[in-house]
Amino acid sequence: MQTPIFWKGSLEDIEQSVKSIKKGKVEVLCKSAGNRNIYLIEYGERNYIKHEANYSSATGAKDLKCYADKTQPGYVPTVLLVGAVHGGEFEGTVAMLNLISLLETGRDLAGNVNEDILDAVKGTNLLLIPCLNVDGRARVPFDAFLDKDYETFRYYSQGTWKDGSLCEWPDCKAKHPIIDHVDFLGSYFNDDGINLMHDNFFFPMAIETKAMLRLSDQRVPDVTIHLHGGSNTTSTFLQTRYVPSFMNNRIYELAMQVKLAAEEKGCGELFQVCSQETNADSYPPPSFNLVSACSHINGEMCITYESNQGLDDENQYTPEQIYEIIMILFAETCRYAKDIMGIDTEEESE
Ligand SMILES: [Zn+2]
Repeated sequence: MQTPIFWKGSLEDIEQSVKSIKKGKVEVLCKSAGNRNIYLIEYGERNYIKHEANYSSATGAKDLKCYADKTQPGYVPTVLLVGAVHGGEFEGTVAMLNLISLLETGRDLAGNVNEDILDAVKGTNLLLIPCLNVDGRARVPFDAFLDKDYETFRYYSQGTWKDGSLCEWPDCKAKHPIIDHVDFLGSYFNDDGINLMHDNFFFPMAIETKAMLRLSDQRVPDVTIHLHGGSNTTSTFLQTRYVPSFMNNRIYELAMQVKLAAEEKGCGELFQVCSQETNADSYPPPSFNLVSACSHINGEMCITYESNQGLDDENQYTPEQIYEIIMILFAETCRYAKDIMGIDTEEESE
């Protein structure tokens, strides 16, 4: 399939986008295992959060303000969006490069306006990592799995074992790091064969994981979304494991808000609301993953979004549908962050 004009998500596209930035700020969050730049782009006023204690100690003191005092006047609600934790899950990267274009020029990469998202972003501190796993991204020679078959998708996502057979999912997680066990290293992994989603969070192996945790700890974003692809799933949140139930309730609440906004725009069928609770009694137990870790380092909401990837299979979204629902997600996430921090930007602007 010829990808539409707005579908830009290669490492070169990210470099181009970064060069175009004038209103936002750009920094290199860190270098990847393969020595590639991982960019952090920022819009809006940042907060300088002083930590009197780490999050664990603050919860022990029964006063979260010891970790991050967000009651200070002028606190700016903060949203962190993280693309391509798995390098072949391009959809979030594409949406973020369009969001950057909208913020810089008022138009997305197809030349369209989107007042809704510009309105939602107003009054937030927006942190964007278009592609966290740049090493994995570099291993995929195309920009989308749109119209691709299952084998191609699995080959470039999880790679192949030494005997040439597909690593598949979830079997690809049985070896970690996977590097010494593969013939072709899939885009799931950085150049050291580490799946950032399943690093050892008490002794992180990957520099990318450390950078992600450090950023989450320093900035304490009110909401963080990690953008993944889930083959031809109906786009959804995965409920975050091992977090307090009030956090699961908030994630569910935001999911309901995204669903409602999508329904109002006539595309409610593109988003499925996640469960309100996690199944804590299941065995073997679910994994404590990067999203759980980010939520535990700062006590804030961190969510996995799984996008439809438009494979040549049942429930195939068009690229326009994949893009539309992610932009609604971005807008509602910014609104939600402002709501939970009690900031009503509509009133402020009057
Ligand atoms: Zn993923």
